[in-house]
Amino acid sequence: MELPGPPEPLPAYASVTIIGGGAMGVSTALHLAENGVGSIVVIERDLLGSGSSAKPLGGVRATFSDPGNNRVGATQPRSLRAIRG
Ligand SMILES: Cc1cc2nc3c(=O)[nH]c(=O)nc-3n(C[C@H](O)[C@H](O)[C@H](O)COP(=O)(O)OP(=O)(O)OC[C@H]3O[C@@H](n4cnc5c(N)ncnc54)[C@H](O)[C@@H]3O)c2cc1C
Repeated sequence: MELPGPPEPLPAYASVTIIGGGAMGVSTALHLAENGVGSIVVIERDLLGSGSSAKPLGGVRATFSDPGNNRVGATQPRSLRAIRG
């Protein structure tokens, strides 16, 4: 099946092109823009947030079962402050 093209023509120039409009892609775009980077293009093959980022939207988990995720979970207070604004 052929995927539809973008709803608008892509700009001729971008200083940064981000492939993937999940949490990582849009967060990267946000933080770049907040730090003065312009002409950012996010290219998403489906809908924004339609990948893994859409799946845990029922809540925020702060406990994990493996050492790597435990280390990430230890930063949750910072994440939760960011989410609350
Ligand atoms: C059921 C479930 C529960 C989870 N629970 C937690 C949790 O409690 N806590 C936690 O921290 N994490 C959790 N995660 C993990 C977390 O959701 C992911 O690590 C995170 O969302 C990944 O974000 P991402 O932007 O890297 O990937 P994604 O959200 O998958 O975004 C990638 C995007 O790139 C697009 N894409 C891919 N290839 C191309 C291409 N060639 N061209 C254009 N676009 C492309 C995809 O369509 C997609 O939209 C969970 C994940 C799942 C599935």
